[in-house]
Amino acid sequence: MRVILLGPAGSGKGTQADLIQKNYGFPKISTGDLLRKAVQEGTELGKKVHQEMKAGKLVADDIVLELVKERISAPDCRTGYVLDGFPRNLNQALLLEKIENHRLETVFEILITEEEILRRLSGRRVCLQCGAVYNINNNKPKVDGVCDICGSPLVIREDDKPEVIKERFRIYVETTKPLVEHYSRKKVLFQVDGQNSVEVIFKAIKSIIDRRISGAQGVSN
Ligand code: AMP
Repeated sequence: MRVILLGPAGSGKGTQADLIQKNYGFPKISTGDLLRKAVQEGTELGKKVHQEMKAGKLVADDIVLELVKERISAPDCRTGYVLDGFPRNLNQALLLEKIENHRLETVFEILITEEEILRRLSGRRVCLQCGAVYNINNNKPKVDGVCDICGSPLVIREDDKPEVIKERFRIYVETTKPLVEHYSRKKVLFQVDGQNSVEVIFKAIKSIIDRRISGAQGVSN
């Protein structure tokens, strides 16, 4: 199965992807994490994408697709994987279907307002080393500024500044609409209310994935 999570930055996609990974063993593939790692390591690719990322703009489709293509061909993706942050536009979705079109697809659109996103992201702190995400409002690390998992320092993402958050939200709305329509036509789209708690959202997601795995037909709602 290929699980795709659509939702603006701060909607809780990453958290839900982690829970799906834990529950089903589907590896989480976050293109944002892969790109940030490349930037941090100073690779050629990292140097190429740094400016776009800093400004909250989308990186070129072919660059992101190459990263995804390599990752989904790994053996741990055989039974399924969960995509967090990809595809971001219709072209990426169509390219993905070209590479791999045999997967049962389940797409979740997490619905949330811009006000709630701004509130959440202003408290977000991330570990660039292992990708763990915290929030000083409701998900603090045990020691201030230090990752619980690997002990590395926590930082505010360069693109979590209010003006960049707004720009990313605008781009999300603009580019995701055609994607939502595409998956809705394929009858693989399910909407979940992102204002709910992590647990409530995951319960909704899990019941749909379970239903899909056990062979029920997807119905768009
Ligand atoms: P994210 O962690 O998903 O919010 O992604 C952070 C940044 O990485 C985005 O603002 C983009 O600059 C870049 N990025 C991540 N995924 C993609 C993608 N699928 N297509 C283009 N750019 C991406």
